[in-house]
Amino acid sequence: MAKNTSVNWQFIGNEAAKKASTFTLGSYTSRIMALCDPKIKPILPPLSEAPETSHTAEKAVVKAVLDGSGNAYAPSIGLPAAKSAVAECLSRDLPKKLTGDDVFMTVGCKQAIELAIEILATPKANILLPKPGFPWDMVHAIYNNFEVREYTFLREKNYEIDFDSVRSLVDENTCAILIINPHNPNGNTYSEAHLKQLAELARDLKIMVVSDEVFRWTVFGSNPFVPMAKFSSIVPVISLGSLSKGWSVPGWRTGWLALHDLDGAFKSNKITSALKNFLAIDNKPATVIQAAVPTILEKTPKEFFERRQVFLKEKSDYAFAKLKDIPALTCYHQTEACTFLWTELNLSMFADIKDDEDFCEKLAIEECIVLLPGIAFGLKNWARHSIDMDIFALEDAFARLKSFCKRHATKIKASVNRVK
Ligand SMILES: *Cc1c(COP(=O)(O)O)cnc(C)c1O
Repeated sequence: MAKNTSVNWQFIGNEAAKKASTFTLGSYTSRIMALCDPKIKPILPPLSEAPETSHTAEKAVVKAVLDGSGNAYAPSIGLPAAKSAVAECLSRDLPKKLTGDDVFMTVGCKQAIELAIEILATPKANILLPKPGFPWDMVHAIYNNFEVREYTFLREKNYEIDFDSVRSLVDENTCAILIINPHNPNGNTYSEAHLKQLAELARDLKIMVVSDEVFRWTVFGSNPFVPMAKFSSIVPVISLGSLSKGWSVPGWRTGWLALHDLDGAFKSNKITSALKNFLAIDNKPATVIQAAVPTILEKTPKEFFERRQVFLKEKSDYAFAKLKDIPALTCYHQTEACTFLWTELNLSMFADIKDDEDFCEKLAIEECIVLLPGIAFGLKNWARHSIDMDIFALEDAFARLKSFCKRHATKIKASVNRVK
């Protein structure tokens, strides 16, 4: 019998996603995580402890399972009841109300991002993406050969968008600017005035605004969340969201994309039809979760969100204060939403740390702490710290981080001016 190794098989793996996949957060997380040895110290943030979701959401899913309302295939654009419920929920804060027809159900906010990229990625077009930013849009832009131009932020103005950088990047082939509000990883929310200015700028530049608002339910700072679509009478807006962060159920994989059209621009420029075509060939979120969406959105008590916001605010205060004792890491803006702090590494204060990846790798090996390197978000020599853990774990994490930074600090040299 011939050995298998002698057969010249005719199959070969397609490498089209190879480059794009290296940009995912998952690839960075699993690489850093693999360096942690839980026999040395418990891994932080703890792997097993996901926050609880609301009982209202749990019961709504159980009910959908038991009554069979989610057993069938849903239409490609989503279950009508879920679409209407999202439209109603988003419209609460908007002067221009949505209907269910404007909403499309997606496999989490990630698929909503993928769709936004796919429908815009025509051969000559380019899109403005945030640097730093949650990298899923970049991943799919790379996969779709879509030209990306990265705009920046004004650190001294609490990470507002640098409109000068936006203006300098736009040309006649730019179709959209994608924003993340609240911003991951910067941790800020944009003021109403800033968003209005953005809307006016985008209108002048003749581009649409795509707004990733997945973190809108975990806002705990003094700035309230304002949806971009508040200004959809100025500029066409696509808003993206999901249950994942607000209800702490990223595994439920249910989100949406909403079209806030302006004078039919989305219809006449084929955005609506492109979206429907991509949805027709794409995956859908599980019908059983879609069936529960109306109850989840309408009935979750506001105390559920308030409890979570108080929990995160306490952690944000604690972590921000602790970072003040670690001079090699600078946090310019205390997070007011999201579950992270974002810090710049001062490499000159380390004796033997080459860059952000080296920092995160050594920290994982020596202290079993998982931070993500800034490069994962497009910005080298920064790091993102999770604050989403109980206070004892957070104290432990910052104590380990501090001792790590001390251990690797440049040694202040004793007098070197020895007389010869
Ligand atoms: C987590 C996250 C997503 C992904 O959301 P899912 O609903 O889990 O797909 C999208 N955008 C940002 C900014 C995120 O932080």
